[in-house]
Amino acid sequence: MRALHEGLNDEMYPMSVRPTLPILAAVVAALLTPTAHAEWFSRINDGIMGTRIQVELWSDDEAQANGAIDAVMEEMERIDRDMSTYKPDSEVSRVNDNAAKGPMEISPELFDLLTTALEYSRITEGAFDITYASVGYMYDFRAHKRPTEEQIEAALPAVNYRHVILDPEKHTVFFSQPGVRIDLGGIGKGHAVDRGIAILQARGVQHALVTAGGDSRIIGDRFGKPWIVAIRHPDDKDRVIAKIPLVDTAISTSGDYERYFDEDGVRYHHIIDPHTGHSASKVRSATVIASTATRTDGLSKTAFVLGADEAIRIYNSLDDVDAILVTPDGRVLYTKGLEPAAPSPGSGKEGASSSSAPTSSPGGSPVGSPAPSPTKP
Ligand code: ADP
Ligand code: MG
Repeated sequence: MRALHEGLNDEMYPMSVRPTLPILAAVVAALLTPTAHAEWFSRINDGIMGTRIQVELWSDDEAQANGAIDAVMEEMERIDRDMSTYKPDSEVSRVNDNAAKGPMEISPELFDLLTTALEYSRITEGAFDITYASVGYMYDFRAHKRPTEEQIEAALPAVNYRHVILDPEKHTVFFSQPGVRIDLGGIGKGHAVDRGIAILQARGVQHALVTAGGDSRIIGDRFGKPWIVAIRHPDDKDRVIAKIPLVDTAISTSGDYERYFDEDGVRYHHIIDPHTGHSASKVRSATVIASTATRTDGLSKTAFVLGADEAIRIYNSLDDVDAILVTPDGRVLYTKGLEPAAPSPGSGKEGASSSSAPTSSPGGSPVGSPAPSPTKP
């Protein structure tokens, strides 16, 4: 699922979400602030990291705005060169070629990202695991290619994040087993988005959006209004199941419809269960909201592997994380911070339970129902 940010002038879907109060404050502040000579600058690039990159920012200086966007795009290209497993010379490819032979010194950036990836493996009880690639490299979703059961069985012992040994003193990585491969496809775009945001912040940008595929992060609001992120229906890219107003935050969406092929009624898609080596299909889509895109990217695969209830339990235990999940039977589930507003007195209900949103409430539209039609301002 892509978190769309189109239709930004639409009114937000009337869902009770945490950012509402800051957003109202921002709207009031913007009404009082003169806005002469500034405008939005936006650019899309479809040629980096195999996905769509978009940068949008508010500036009163065209040259500075374009320079900032150039710098973000260049950073994305650099990260792609360093971290892609499709590039045989990338640092990650060299790690895959050599780290089982002995400890290998790596760049501080890669070392830190591997450290973070292992932390997310622990948080998600092994659902997020960059060594999924020990099996995952045998899938090619574009070519409708998948490994045989025998191939999966033979490769599966190499899938375990505990095989990745990091030495913080020597800045080395070592694979404790032969056959281990890593791939940062599940965290690298979030990292690239955070790097892009850091570049914009260093240049004094105060209102911006950076997106790489399903991973986005926002600085500030959108000229007094929140950024509106729409979550699409898993089976219909034009149908919206929820719109979320966001200010100063990151959001990632993972879906089983992004990279997949169907065969004999089974969907083979790009999120792999590290325990089985098969596609992980316990939800259809997962949207995670948190402070950084590295975090939202790393955590958005969890529910596919563990299932909605386990994932909601983990997300609810993390203070800064919220999530919206779509289950295979079409329910839309929310974490505590996003649950629909408590019903008014006399409605006969005692407040919504943490995750199973009632299908008739504003926060719990069933996936099969039409998207709420936003009213134009
Ligand atoms: P996108 O690539 O659009 O950002 P996701 O954030 O959903 O999509 O990440 C999917 C990618 O994550 C896969 O293409 C693969 O590279 C990687 N991946 C798949 N399964 C796992 C897993 N169990 N743990 C970590 N990364 C995974
Ligand atoms: Mg992602």
